[in-house]
Amino acid sequence: MSPLIDLRSDTVTRPSPPMRRAMAEAEVGDDVYGEDPTVRRLEATVAALLGKEAALFVPSGTMANQLALRSHTEPGDEAIIEATGHSYAYETGAMAGLSGVQARPLRGDRGLLDPADVERAVSPVSSHFARTRIILIENTSNRGGGTPYTLDRIAAIADIAERHRLALHMDGARLWNAHVATGIPLATYAARATSVSVCLSKGLGAPVGSVLAGTRVFIERAHRFRKMFGGGMRQAGILAAAGLWAIEHNVPRLAEDHQHLKRLAEGLAAIPGLRTDASRYETNIAYATVTRPGLSAAAVVERLKDAGVLVNATSPDELRFVTHLDVDAPMIEAAIARVRRALAE
Ligand SMILES: *Cc1c(COP(=O)(O)O)cnc(C)c1O
Repeated sequence: MSPLIDLRSDTVTRPSPPMRRAMAEAEVGDDVYGEDPTVRRLEATVAALLGKEAALFVPSGTMANQLALRSHTEPGDEAIIEATGHSYAYETGAMAGLSGVQARPLRGDRGLLDPADVERAVSPVSSHFARTRIILIENTSNRGGGTPYTLDRIAAIADIAERHRLALHMDGARLWNAHVATGIPLATYAARATSVSVCLSKGLGAPVGSVLAGTRVFIERAHRFRKMFGGGMRQAGILAAAGLWAIEHNVPRLAEDHQHLKRLAEGLAAIPGLRTDASRYETNIAYATVTRPGLSAAAVVERLKDAGVLVNATSPDELRFVTHLDVDAPMIEAAIARVRRALAE
């Protein structure tokens, strides 16, 4: 059979030959001593792109978000987050485990927080309540279907954060996708956020790494917690070089992933046994509900694997499809045909 088409996640990409060359040739030093010039260049580059004073290179998006939580809060504080938000739903309970912070999850619209709900969820200042200290927004929202925030919605949430003196952290694992889909500059998206994290290892195709950005004081605090959490890396310039190469070469091409996703979702929508609203997807993630009675999403995942397509089941009746750098237009057509055939059985 022709090669597997892997639509499980945009994390499955492999570094390209020129990216590997940039890694091999990277100038390095001991970054725990602050002596890795390539890491410094990556941090300065991302800080500038996001319009922030400083930035910190970290091993994962989870660590970036958890450093933001730890740096903005004290144990016993509360974090407002959308109920499907990564830092609440997919980070192993780390905000409680590492920072002693409890989540106040709110159900949003396609993964986006509603400012009116946020306002209602901020605890009054009182000795009875957990102190609300931070709001997290995910841009784009993974479980919402790769949904980008509008600037109006961010501004409304940022106004609430300012009024109550709360931090606003933007989990921008896929901020690059939001930027390419909407044309809104990265720094404009980031302007009202106290801190922002971005992933290099998803749509951009680097093998490892995320970057956390904010004020100099905030990044100094996060730097200390990075060491505490075990995220201090030594000759990390080899990894940072991949991130720099990705930022220089792989941002505008995300538009291709978005076109591929649109085509894929249209194809899926026409397959009996699946339901999805292709018109709602703006970036690189789509969900489809399995509508055939007695057929679970997990069973469809197995059928698709046999047919040469890898996807994730995200609930008993829901599948997630993600496009990325290592999937081209002919592979999208092949994937649609394989899904159609697998569901016809
Ligand atoms: C993937 C992801 C992260 C972090 O993932 P890691 O696997 O820890 O790098 C954070 N937020 C969102 C929205 C993500 O999709």
